[in-house]
Amino acid sequence: MKKIALHWQILIALVLAVPFGIFLKDYVSWVSWLGDIFLRALKMVVIPLILFSMISGVANIGSGSSLGRIGLKTFLYYIGTLLLAATTGLFLVNLMKPGVGAQLGFTQTVNGLGHSSSVKDILTGIIPENIFAELAKGNTLPVIFFGILFGVFVTQLKDKQRTLMTDLFNGMFDAMMLITHFIIRFAPLGVFGIVAYQAASQKDIAEVAIRLGRYMLVVFSGLAIHALITLPLVMYFVGKVNPLKHYRAVSSALLTAFSTASSNATLPLAMECVEQNCGVSKKISSFTLPLGATINMNGTALYEIVVAMFIAQAYGIHLTIWQQLIAVITASLAAIGAAGIPMAGLVTITIVLSAVGLPMEGIGLVLAVDRPLDMLRTSVNVLADTAVASIVAKSEGEDLKV
Ligand code: ASP
Repeated sequence: MKKIALHWQILIALVLAVPFGIFLKDYVSWVSWLGDIFLRALKMVVIPLILFSMISGVANIGSGSSLGRIGLKTFLYYIGTLLLAATTGLFLVNLMKPGVGAQLGFTQTVNGLGHSSSVKDILTGIIPENIFAELAKGNTLPVIFFGILFGVFVTQLKDKQRTLMTDLFNGMFDAMMLITHFIIRFAPLGVFGIVAYQAASQKDIAEVAIRLGRYMLVVFSGLAIHALITLPLVMYFVGKVNPLKHYRAVSSALLTAFSTASSNATLPLAMECVEQNCGVSKKISSFTLPLGATINMNGTALYEIVVAMFIAQAYGIHLTIWQQLIAVITASLAAIGAAGIPMAGLVTITIVLSAVGLPMEGIGLVLAVDRPLDMLRTSVNVLADTAVASIVAKSEGEDLKV
């Protein structure tokens, strides 16, 4: 019998899990452990994968002009797509005005807002005080910083040591990818467990969704425009990448991003898809993707600007064009600072709200429907990372399958 492709297996699991969660609520614990184990296994590989892939990626690119060139290109694409996403959100929220006349009677309190960080905290936090503590805490930005620095200085070693260290870290990275490959085989089971649990635990979502329907529609349309029009256009015209083939190549990663609502947890799959199905070299994917999973969150930037404007509209606060521009820039920065974990975007929104002087309690308005929107924005985050990896690889003259 012909083997069903992985993305189909994941899709089938996802579709079956929703009715299971809704109609067999009481039996969800029978399957939710599958999701817990899958997520734990993905999280197990993420931090070593990020560290080893950054070191080996940078060491293979070399420290001189090619690192500068590839680094600059990647960074510019990330910033460019982030700003495009945030601007799309701003445009739609002004056009559809979902907050005007919204009922404020269902505000929920939000836990964890006390730990919100500012732009300054994000920037200083990039430099680790203690790299082992950051590794243990799973903070990806300082790990990436350290990995790049380490990789750069590996290339400065004397010949014998340089070859030894580069081979060592390439080997570490390859071993992590083999473990990843093994874990990914269980993705359909894991996705089934995660989605069944989520479907069972959404309380009264239908009722709140009706009240917040226009707001959800704005986020949804913005994400759809970005994923189905803007990014494909950038891929096709700027990157000479075939968007349809690209979509197909990364579909397992997109479905996993949707199910887990975590870019970090999806990173192992994204790397596998981009290398195996798009044909991007390890050198480029191991540099661009961990960076992307941590800083490039197009869907989150779009979401944050919509939430900020929605809150302003709901409280009847008028924002000038200038304030709206500040909101676009801070939303992009807040998205860069958001960790690739579920609900991270909801917490970093405080940065945008305080930058333009909006009430923090407004977040309570959108909390109830965060999960489905988180699933969608995370898929867009991962799509953008993989698109940039393909575009950068093409621009470096690589012969891709997309
Ligand atoms: N869950 C998102 C991610 O992992 C971050 C967010 O909450 O927007 O990409």
